[in-house]
Amino acid sequence: MTFYHASRLFDGQCIRDNVRLSVENGVIRGLDTNPQSTDLPLKGLVTAGFIDTQVNGGGGLMFNQQPSLTTIRKIRQAHSLFGTTAMLPTLITDNLAIMQQAADAIAEAIVLKEPGILGIHFEGPHLSIPKRGIHSSHEIRPLSEEEMAIFCRQDLGKVVVTVAPENVSAAQISELVSCGVIVSLGHSNADIDTALQAIDAGASGFTHLFNAMSGLAARNPGMVAAALHDPRVTCGLIADELHVHPYNCRLAFQCKGWQNLMLVTDAMAHVGADVESLPWLDTHIIRTGNKLTLPDGTLAGSALDMASAVSNIHQNMGIALESALNMASLTPARFLDCSDRGKISVGMQADFVLLDDQLNTLGCWIGGVQVTHEGAQI
Ligand SMILES: [Zn+2]
Repeated sequence: MTFYHASRLFDGQCIRDNVRLSVENGVIRGLDTNPQSTDLPLKGLVTAGFIDTQVNGGGGLMFNQQPSLTTIRKIRQAHSLFGTTAMLPTLITDNLAIMQQAADAIAEAIVLKEPGILGIHFEGPHLSIPKRGIHSSHEIRPLSEEEMAIFCRQDLGKVVVTVAPENVSAAQISELVSCGVIVSLGHSNADIDTALQAIDAGASGFTHLFNAMSGLAARNPGMVAAALHDPRVTCGLIADELHVHPYNCRLAFQCKGWQNLMLVTDAMAHVGADVESLPWLDTHIIRTGNKLTLPDGTLAGSALDMASAVSNIHQNMGIALESALNMASLTPARFLDCSDRGKISVGMQADFVLLDDQLNTLGCWIGGVQVTHEGAQI
């Protein structure tokens, strides 16, 4: 058993001072109020590790460009510097061969119990061309048996698939859900009826709320209205203050609460690496400050990390710290149906992060093992 003395700890409900945290075999065994002088000190705020359901890259690498176990490992390591303890590497629209390679790499990670890898997110290729963003219009296509077979593999851990409901039928969504796939709606121009039919068929998420989806108009409520209004769905939000206006972030929070609004990074290779220009399809992605765009100005993912997303939501948008933290951990855990992660309580995985007062990451633990900032004076 390892004992820690957390000067502050958030347990998913409230922030407590001077907590003794006991960890054994990667699992939290106790939360007590009587720290001992021999306990390992954790000076700062201890909270559940962040869970990112949309990560395209990190550490200078993109999952699409090198879909291998090595890439997955490096992306995860880059994001753990910013508090991420679990993630879904995310494959942007691509051909079948790349989809197979990505799935095989994830299956390998799952078999090896690679720390922090929960499964995979396929963002596309069954999307709307007018709302494609940086996805290749050549690869956007109808859902065939080949893709269905990949999505329904049972060796991939948690599988999220983003689809545009106007191009994927309710019956296909039902079939995916019955195979255990978590269906998220996005990159879509759907009207309200089509969006609601997809939710009735079992879709449970919206991918990067407000971005690349039909907006809210007086007589055409569209995807945004369904996302904000329907209590059955959880929405991902890119809170980098570039993708979504802070006012809209607060509006979404008012509609969904922390319970159905989760922070995602949609990160590209730039997180945890010095990348200025990134080759992309037949063009390239340019970084200007924290903004990533194609040369024509189209937003191209983010350079956001989870700790910054929490900080933006709390410090810049005025959302309570407890809610902001849950939006980065408990909400994505529930969305993925991971009942052993997302908060610090007895019986949960010992995935936690230590933050300073400005919410910078001081250390990150996965299954009780410190994976970043080892040896740092805490
Ligand atoms: Zn996207």
